[in-house]
Parts: sequence; C-alpha cells; structure tokens
Amino acid sequence: MDDKITTADLKRYADLRRQLDALSEAERDRGSPMFINRPDAWFEAGLWRCINGHVSTRYLKSEETGLDLCLECEKPLALTFPEDTEGTPLPEPYKVVSSQVHPELGYVEIRQYLPKETPDAH
Ligand SMILES: [Zn+2]
Repeated sequence: MDDKITTADLKRYADLRRQLDALSEAERDRGSPMFINRPDAWFEAGLWRCINGHVSTRYLKSEETGLDLCLECEKPLALTFPEDTEGTPLPEPYKVVSSQVHPELGYVEIRQYLPKETPDAH
C-alpha cells in the first residue's frame, strides 16, 4: 500500500468511532435492539463509513495494519448507521444548549439529546 495510516488518520478514526458511539447510544436509549455496542439494524445494513466520508457496503481487510480500510482511499472505516450517505457530515445525536469555560473543567457544553428524526420522503 502506498498510503500509510498516519497518526492524524488514527486520531480522525478515534473521532469517527466516538461520533458513531454517541449515535449508537442514542439508538440504545430509544430502545433499539443492540448487539454488543451497535444497533442490530446497523449490522443488518452492513454500511461502512471511512474517515474521509466514503460510505460503502464493501471494505478492505488489512492484516498489516489490523484495521478495516476504505476501498476508495485506503483509510480506516467503521460500521455506520443504515441511512448514512456518502459525502454528508455525520448527524449529531444532540444539540448544544449552551457552553462556557468552567474554572476546573475547562470548556464545557450543556448538551441535550434530540429525538430521532422521522424519515421524510426524499
Ligand atoms: Zn474512503
């Protein structure tokens, strides 16, 4: 492989995983059936999103890096939600109500979970 996975890539991968974790937890809180830490529906759809925003049902298994990689850009990817579409930013499962610089905690946000949007006709 020409493009090696860089430290910056791994940081973006960790960020991607965190965002998907939050979306998973929001699904769990809404009562969706889960397997380990992802909704069953995510496994059934089998969609993968890479750190560059490519979304596909196919991916590359890299034994050298131990990671699952995108077929298009060979960067790390993770199982994503069934409605995910390529080139769109991941939805936030919450909105930021307010933020402040806390004397001990630093920058903090008050977040409020949002109810799942009802799928609208495209
Ligand atoms: Zn990609």
